[in-house]
Amino acid sequence: AAKEDGKGVARLFSRDLELRVQERTRLEKSLHAALQDRQGLFVFYQPIIDLYSGRVMTREGLARWHHPQRGWVSPAEFVPVAEQCGLIDPLGEFVLDRACRNAAQWDDGAHVAVNISAIQLGRGTLVPAVSAALEVSGLPAHRLEIEVTETALLGDEQSGIQDLLTLRQMGVRIALDDFGTGYSSLAHLRAFPFDKIKIDGSFVRDALTRPECAAVVRAIADLGQRLGVRTVAEGVETEEQLALVRREGCAEVQGYLHGRPMPAAEDAELVARLDEGLGAR
Ligand code: C2E
Ligand code: MG
Ligand code: MG
Ligand code: MG
Repeated sequence: AAKEDGKGVARLFSRDLELRVQERTRLEKSLHAALQDRQGLFVFYQPIIDLYSGRVMTREGLARWHHPQRGWVSPAEFVPVAEQCGLIDPLGEFVLDRACRNAAQWDDGAHVAVNISAIQLGRGTLVPAVSAALEVSGLPAHRLEIEVTETALLGDEQSGIQDLLTLRQMGVRIALDDFGTGYSSLAHLRAFPFDKIKIDGSFVRDALTRPECAAVVRAIADLGQRLGVRTVAEGVETEEQLALVRREGCAEVQGYLHGRPMPAAEDAELVARLDEGLGAR
């Protein structure tokens, strides 16, 4: 009987796996189609506030996808799909192009930050994509920031770092995203001269209740000041968290307290209609 049970479980497993593979293939196909006709893909913008002046210094562009059947799909789900099925370059180019063109229209002159996947580095595609986006939009290079996570600097480091150095020579700023969550975080600060360090939201979220998280926020803010690198506290949701990160010496804040990611003015109407329909955000 035990043997038969085993077979039954195996059958269930393979059925489950089969369904997941099918779902995944469908998602890849829809993403491919969305990128091809540029339908259902958006860049939303979230303000990053300078604590000294109280002004919006930067807006982070965040990819959004409205799937025809499933509604809004999180970038935490579709970015890894794009990375694994060879769609990260077209997705990255879409976001860069859209972000630079939107930012060129902002009358406050704020910078725009774009997230880059580790896979986009060191393949000879990123620098031309950034150059093209800047040229087409007319956005000055110093108003563009590229955010890379710590994992981007692991593995085949040198060619990735060369891409970042080239961008920096062009005047583009480079930020280290989700700092403190990766492996051997401090080593990355030596590997590349970052313009900004973004403290991962997980530390900010727990800083009021867990002293060790507050200590990490303080240590990173302090490190930033000593290195002459601006630090951004991500995920600030409450006045209490704002007071804490200010006290600990962060230069900028980003989070729901100051604003959620929002569509560009030109997309607002279409996004509102999609929200009313399937899969409100
Ligand atoms: P990230 O770059 O660290 O972006 C910050 C994430 O935190 C965003 O999630 C944002 O909506 C969320 N967030 C901002 N403020 C708060 C807050 O106060 N509370 C909470 N709970 N969350 C907050 P989102 O937009 O879902 O993006 C998730 C991740 O997906 C990003 O993390 C980034 O790593 C990736 N991603 C998004 N867009 C792109 C893209 O265009 N290209 C690439 N390669 N990755 C992207
Ligand atoms: Mg980011
Ligand atoms: Mg982040
Ligand atoms: Mg993140």
